[in-house]
Amino acid sequence: MTDLESWIKYGDEMRRPLIINPDLANSSKVVIVGGGLSGMTCAYRLSQKRPDLEIILLEKNDFLGGVISTWESGEWLCDLAVNATRPHPAFWRLIEDLEISNSFKPSNEKAKSRWIILNGRKHRLSMSSIFRIGFFRMWKSIKKSRKGGVSVAQLIPHKQIADALTLGIVNDTSENVDADFLMPSMTSFGPKPPVKKSKLKKKILQNYPIFTPKKGSIASLEGGMKTLITALEEKLHDSNNVSIKLNQKPQSLESLSSEYGIPESSIIWAATDFQEDEKFTELSIFVIGFKQEHVKNIEMGYGTLIPDTKIPISGILNESDLHNSSRAPKGHRLFRLMVPHSRWNGDEEIILKHAEKFLATNPVLFSKIGVRKIPRYEPGYMAKISKLESEKNLIGWSVSGVSITHVVCEAERIAELF
Ligand SMILES: Cc1cc2nc3c(=O)[nH]c(=O)nc-3n(C[C@H](O)[C@H](O)[C@H](O)COP(=O)(O)OP(=O)(O)OC[C@H]3O[C@@H](n4cnc5c(N)ncnc54)[C@H](O)[C@@H]3O)c2cc1C
Repeated sequence: MTDLESWIKYGDEMRRPLIINPDLANSSKVVIVGGGLSGMTCAYRLSQKRPDLEIILLEKNDFLGGVISTWESGEWLCDLAVNATRPHPAFWRLIEDLEISNSFKPSNEKAKSRWIILNGRKHRLSMSSIFRIGFFRMWKSIKKSRKGGVSVAQLIPHKQIADALTLGIVNDTSENVDADFLMPSMTSFGPKPPVKKSKLKKKILQNYPIFTPKKGSIASLEGGMKTLITALEEKLHDSNNVSIKLNQKPQSLESLSSEYGIPESSIIWAATDFQEDEKFTELSIFVIGFKQEHVKNIEMGYGTLIPDTKIPISGILNESDLHNSSRAPKGHRLFRLMVPHSRWNGDEEIILKHAEKFLATNPVLFSKIGVRKIPRYEPGYMAKISKLESEKNLIGWSVSGVSITHVVCEAERIAELF
């Protein structure tokens, strides 16, 4: 594949390094540790590319999917982690290959607005947010960021806007987040595209199967992200060359290597390590539902970010507005609340009180649906991982990029090495 073809297929993902031992491609048997989206997609892409390859997927839990899961109660439905995808042809290709295109829809055009609460007042996030920063200041800090290793706070010189951005993506404040890892195209990290950005963008847009996404749109699945995990699981079960082993927690590469009779270069580590406290942030996820008439004052939109750390809720997502598939019973609306543990003392009543203040009183549903951890990506993170010696094969959101488009893309790029 030419360099240009790869850029058209993967876009800015080409800036991200693959942490892969070159000997991996010589394997006849591969063990993948971790059955989240990245381990599953990698197993699927490898099994498609090389039907002769023996692939063993090991997962410590008794279920697959990792942090992705979908909560359901009657007609209420809500994803616990990711609920939609931003456009990327690799994600569209995965949906098509898994034969779930009919369930995959662009999100509701009317629910695009995002808001931020600053000093107690709600503002719509838009190009005017950039005006608040100032074009010249922004341009100067983008230029500085090209040296590498800066934080998002340094890249975007408006603390609250920068915090809102990182909170919405990684549940952390902007001074703690590596700009190269979060937005490598903005900091110009890694290799450069072989053609002008605008030309490349056009070519990428022509490269989408199923449907061409509109600018600024996102897309989601009927039935939530569970639909994706179930489809992947079915494909893996149907593959003759993949075996899945649940309730497995290998101790080390050495032990795996001797147990399966393979070199360590044939082991792919897709298991996010949440062992050390300082390496992740933790949050609880709540749902709150209302009768339509009680929240008619709440404008239809994507959601609201709350950078103020004195408020225990960091984000409110308008779940039932956003998707083109149902998330709430008829005549009702559903909202998801993100509650970072760094802001919260564990008292659920407090969350309800704040949610009622921002939305409305008398919800018909209020429930905590789970807890999730998100890896930390401190300034300099991308530079550090790109210098890792690729003796190990590391994949997944602790190295690939934080979003599902990154892990899905990474799996395809790895299969191409075979
Ligand atoms: C609250 C939240 C909101 C998010 N929102 C978005 C969003 O809006 N958009 C977006 O694109 N992405 C979002 N994401 C990120 C997205 O969910 C991840 O990028 C993706 O799911 C990561 O998949 P993974 O397989 O790399 O990791 P994981 O899902 O963490 O999977 C790792 C797997 O490895 C297993 N494992 C761990 N240790 C071992 C071991 N020793 N042995 C065997 N197995 C092991 C785990 O049990 C797990 O199944 C969000 C995530 C969270 C938590």
